[in-house]
Amino acid sequence: MSETFLLRGARILDPAQGYDAHGDLLIRDGRIYALGPDLAPTADAAVVTLPASWVLTPGFVDLHAHLREPGFEAKETIQSGAAAAARGGFTTICCMPNTQPVTDSAATIAYVRDRAKDAPARVRPIAAISKGEAGKELAEMAELAEAGAVAFSDDGRPVSSSRLMRSALAYAAPLGLPIVEHCQDEDLVGAGVMHEGAIATLLGLPGWPAAGEDVMLARDLALVRLTGAKYHAAHLSTAGAVALVRQAKREGLPVSAEVTPHHLLLTDAWVAGERSGPLADALAALGIAVPPGARYDTATKVNPPLRTTDDCAALLEGLRDGTIDAIATDHAPHTTVDKACEYADAAFGISGFETALASLLALVHAGRLELPTLVAALTVRPARAWNLDAGTLAPGAAADLTIFDPDEPWTVEPGRFASRGKNTPLAGLTLRGRVRQTWLGGRRVYDVGGEYPSF
Ligand SMILES: [Zn+2]
Repeated sequence: MSETFLLRGARILDPAQGYDAHGDLLIRDGRIYALGPDLAPTADAAVVTLPASWVLTPGFVDLHAHLREPGFEAKETIQSGAAAAARGGFTTICCMPNTQPVTDSAATIAYVRDRAKDAPARVRPIAAISKGEAGKELAEMAELAEAGAVAFSDDGRPVSSSRLMRSALAYAAPLGLPIVEHCQDEDLVGAGVMHEGAIATLLGLPGWPAAGEDVMLARDLALVRLTGAKYHAAHLSTAGAVALVRQAKREGLPVSAEVTPHHLLLTDAWVAGERSGPLADALAALGIAVPPGARYDTATKVNPPLRTTDDCAALLEGLRDGTIDAIATDHAPHTTVDKACEYADAAFGISGFETALASLLALVHAGRLELPTLVAALTVRPARAWNLDAGTLAPGAAADLTIFDPDEPWTVEPGRFASRGKNTPLAGLTLRGRVRQTWLGGRRVYDVGGEYPSF
């Protein structure tokens, strides 16, 4: 059935084409047909008029999410994760292989793709680097690429063996797919559960030093120099890591990197219940009160850990100057039980899809980040980093769209998340900016005003 829509009136922002103006978008048969000012409606077009204050962008692309299925369906399923993604404006989500079984075989990739076929987001599986993510023996990488993997990673864990990492890079190079590293020197980090510094000492928690990330990244970059293979650093969290990636890009190495909203916005002080750092500053500048949090709130426990204000500033600078390609959520849903325990025993991770945009918009409202840069880091920059067919409103592209009101205030109520993971340190905070509609292949898969099934 032919379906044609004319979306009019919103600010259309597509960094892939350098387009930023109020205008119209014509969608036909699930694809972008035309974009421009004052398009004439065709006879068959359903006209959707949007407020001029709303922003229409390509659907967001997330290079790093944990959907937990197969194996951990109490935390999330592919359906519930994709529904959460749609609510957050994400239309393409790359899911990590640390499931049970690990996504290290063509059969598991096929299972994930099959489970995702009617999901309200495009799910692109990342395959494991090593069998069982055990770090001993390479998975069958060519077979995994053939089955539809978009990248390789043992995320959740680093590839500790330099020899195995070298082989992984060498095997991935002819496949053209990136190796994605969770940069953590496990020996150095040990049992660390939060950033190593004064606050960890005060709280009596084992520290996870910034050097634990920098050491692993520096090793990997040496191996990229050796092999020439594509490499992507997941969830940068330290100023040192930003400097290493900047230098590697200057050398012309085929390196890309991502940063999460929480590492840009939150600091280790949050673990002590003191909500300081870029998000708190930005909300305060908007006149939005940020009440103190609870000490040892396990919702702040994430890997790598929340770091210092200086690290946040370096990450933001890296995002603005293009050192860091993409914003990725590292959406990591957990059950309440996984988090309702002592800090040291709690699971690492934040349920990130549904708060990503609103939390990041605080930086835009506070004048710290330009909206086109933010949108580029959520759309075209991740798509180009991994050669994904997404992230643009160019004619012919799939009609994957995110439409948001940049100003609408709302309060984060995890109980209302589509995600099964209610674990967020932002619970109860008021943020400004809200996804209103998400379209996937010319179909509305989320509308804040509409009725949608919960999963
Ligand atoms: Zn990781």
